[in-house]
Amino acid sequence: MSTPVISVKDLSVSYDRKRALTNIFLEIEEGHLCGVIGPNGAGKSTLFKAILGLIDINTGSIRVEGKRIEDMRKSVVYVPQKDEVDWQFPATVMDIVLQGRYPHKKVYQRLDKSDREIAQNALKDLGIPHLANRQIGELSGGQQQRVFLARALCQQADIFLLDEPFVGVDVTTEERILEILQQLARNGKTLLVIHHDLSSVESHFDQVIMINQRLIVHGAVDTVFTKENIEKTFRAQMPILHKTGLIG
Ligand code: ADP
Ligand code: MG
Repeated sequence: MSTPVISVKDLSVSYDRKRALTNIFLEIEEGHLCGVIGPNGAGKSTLFKAILGLIDINTGSIRVEGKRIEDMRKSVVYVPQKDEVDWQFPATVMDIVLQGRYPHKKVYQRLDKSDREIAQNALKDLGIPHLANRQIGELSGGQQQRVFLARALCQQADIFLLDEPFVGVDVTTEERILEILQQLARNGKTLLVIHHDLSSVESHFDQVIMINQRLIVHGAVDTVFTKENIEKTFRAQMPILHKTGLIG
C-alpha cells in the first residue's frame, strides 16, 4: 500500500487543561476532496493546527507523506478561518498572493518575473486579475476569500488545508472556489476543507471526516455521511438540527 498523504496516530490536544481532541486516528490518501464536519468547538481548527505543527500536542504522531511537517512545509498550504486574519493590514492583493511564493525562495532570493507570472495566473484562475493593485481591506468577503485561495494556488502545494473557505462568500464565489478545489483533487492534490453547511456536504466532497473532540467517522461521503453519524457528531445540538429539518 502507498504511504498515506496525511497520517495522524493517536492525536490528543488540550488547551491549558481543557481537552480539544482525544485519540484521533486518520489516514488520508491522495486525490481526495475531504470535508471536515463537526459542531462549533469540536476541534476542527485544532486538528489543522496540529497537522501543521502550529500547536503543541499532548500525545500522538503526525506524518505528511511519511515525513515530519517541518520537512514538508513547502508542500502543505493552509488557509485559516477568515476571522483569524487581520484585514486591516496594509497590503495589496498582489502582495498577498505573492506571499505564496516565499516558501520556494531562499532567504536571500528575491521574487522574480516568473513568480509574478504565477501570481497573475492564480488571480486569473480566481477571476480577479483586475483587483491586483487594490488594498485587501477594501474588498468584499467573497473577493478576500478568492485572494487567499489565489495565494494558496501560488504556493503550488500538494496538500491544502482550508478552514471554512465558504463562509461569508457569495454564491458565485462558492461555485468558483469549489470548481477549483475539485479540479485540484482530480489532479491528485489532497484537500481537507472545514465546512459547516451540512446541506452541501454531498455536492462538495467525496470524503468526509466527522469529529466532535473524538473521531466519529472518516470515509466516502456516500457511505458514512448518514443520519446516524450526523446525530452522533452533533449530539449536543440536536434541537437545532431538528428545527432546520436536516434530521427529523
Ligand atoms: P472548531 O474549529 O471545531 O470550532 P476549535 O479547534 O477552534 O474548534 O476549538 C476546540 C476547543 O478548543 C474549543 O472548546 C475552543 O474553545 C478551544 N480552544 C481553541 N483554541 C484555543 C486556544 N488558543 N486557547 C484555549 N482554548 C482554545
Ligand atoms: Mg474552527
